[in-house]
Amino acid sequence: MFQLTLRRRGISDQAVLRAMEEVPREVFVEDLDRADAYRDSALGICCGQTISQPFVVAYMTEQLRLKKEHRVLEIGAGSGYQAAILSRLAAQVLTVERFRTLADTARKRLERLGYHNVEVMLGDGLNLPPNLGPFDRIIVTAAVTEISEGLTSRLEKDGILIAPVGPQHGVQTLVRVVRTEAGLERKELVDVRFVPALPGIAREL
Ligand code: SAH
Repeated sequence: MFQLTLRRRGISDQAVLRAMEEVPREVFVEDLDRADAYRDSALGICCGQTISQPFVVAYMTEQLRLKKEHRVLEIGAGSGYQAAILSRLAAQVLTVERFRTLADTARKRLERLGYHNVEVMLGDGLNLPPNLGPFDRIIVTAAVTEISEGLTSRLEKDGILIAPVGPQHGVQTLVRVVRTEAGLERKELVDVRFVPALPGIAREL
């Protein structure tokens, strides 16, 4: 059923569909939401954040056109679910989260599931340490008002970045940026709703 829904909505990349099938989403949601884990909707997680809807996870992953050798950066680890999907399709994933509780929980969960090529880092994705990167792919899973130079400068040649861009509360547009010989190529994809990217490491939790 899960795969069928994703296919119907237009996901066709076999490797992405396989990863979506393989990663147990019920492990990433709150205990009370387990029965709804495979419904095509976003669900609440700790710290007032959300685990994205399966279709959006699959769609963003497909748009990244991942290869087995890629190094991937994710901003917004949340539950760790998107990072787990990425880990099945790339060599290494570094995911950054500003809430300590979320970062610690995601790290333990991913370790327990044996996804050893994912590193979870407590940090601010809007203000990353200068020595981090470059990456073949960057995925931002919290809404940003613009795609900063601080992120695009970490893209390898032919690198792809995907991020929801728009107002913090409301509808955003998924934007894909490709670093080509000629410069950065930008394309708007579909409308989405994400929780906002906020500056700094969260004070509480
Ligand atoms: N990808 C996640 C869902 C992301 S929800 C999953 O698969 O579950 C967005 C996440 O981005 C939230 O956990 C939020 O705390 C985090 N976030 C927001 N601003 C951030 C920032 N500046 N740096 C790092 N993480 C941030």
